[in-house]
Order: sequence, then C-alpha cells, then structure tokens
Amino acid sequence: MKRKPRAKAAAPPAKVEERMTGTTVFNIPFPSDLETLKGMSPIVIKYPYSVEYIHSYGQDSPFFAGLSNRKLLGTKCGACNYTYATPRLACASCGRETDWVELPAEGRVHTFTTCYFGSEEFLKETPFHLILVEFDGVDTLLLARLVGPETPEDIRIGMPVKAKFRRNSQLRPTDVYFVPAE
Ligand SMILES: [Zn+2]
Repeated sequence: MKRKPRAKAAAPPAKVEERMTGTTVFNIPFPSDLETLKGMSPIVIKYPYSVEYIHSYGQDSPFFAGLSNRKLLGTKCGACNYTYATPRLACASCGRETDWVELPAEGRVHTFTTCYFGSEEFLKETPFHLILVEFDGVDTLLLARLVGPETPEDIRIGMPVKAKFRRNSQLRPTDVYFVPAE
C-alpha cells in the first residue's frame, strides 16, 4: 500500500521570544577571570508580587467579631478560672474548653519596647511602641501597640492604659491599640 506523504511538522522555535516585561537587564559586568566571581556582590532585583490569601480565623473568630464591635475579648477556664488576655480555646493549665469573656477596658503597662525596624507591613510606621498589657483579674498579658507617648522615656512600667479601637475594623489584631489612660 502506498503511503501518503505526511505533512511536515512545524519546526520547533529555534529560540525563546524576548519579553519586554519584568526586569530589564542592560549590562552586568563580567570578569574574564572566573576565580573572582565568588567575590561578586549579590544581584538584587525588584518586581511587584501579589497574592490573594484566604485565611480562616476558625474558633478565634469571636475575638475579631469583638474587635469590630469595640469589645476586647479574652477567654476564661470555667474549671480552674485561669483567664487569658490572648484568647486560648483550650485551657493551657487544665485542658478544658474555655469561655469567652470581655476584658477590662483599662490595664497597665507590664513591659514595653520601641521598634525602630519592623516587617514590611509595619516598616513605614516605625518607630512605634509595643506593650504587654496586664489586666486586673487576668492571668496572661496582651501584646498591643501603645500610641501617644513620643519617646520611650515617656513610657513607664505600671502606667495605666486604655484600649482604643480603629473606627474601620480591618479584622486584624491591630484593630485594638492602647493609649495612656491619664
Ligand atoms: Zn483550666
């Protein structure tokens, strides 16, 4: 049987097409002596990067619902009465499931630090003060921002502070911050 001649397959492209997007490189100095390459400075490139991230707060959701309603919630163990300023759904002391409770509106500075550097999200806000807040009748501390004092010298251990809430809740832990109570 006589075979039909097959259509000739298109030749694969001989080279990858040049792109006009992304990093445009004009020239990178290159030594003739490869021995010197190990001493070369790192190449640093910059480009936009964006992701849509879906995150569930799960059982912590009531804490964020509280923030958006200007209520600061902690949890309390019904069995041993241990109370958590940073909510825990199970008691770290006895393992029982805890209950949601509203924390006092005022507390005291247990300790503080002033951040002159931060992650990308907070870098533009530096310097800022972070405090650990202690509340009457609560067994653990709450980490939050202290707004108001200009310098670390303006902050004192034991200083009374009160909770304030962002008017437009972002459903983030930073929805709550503290200011001096006096
Ligand atoms: Zn307990």
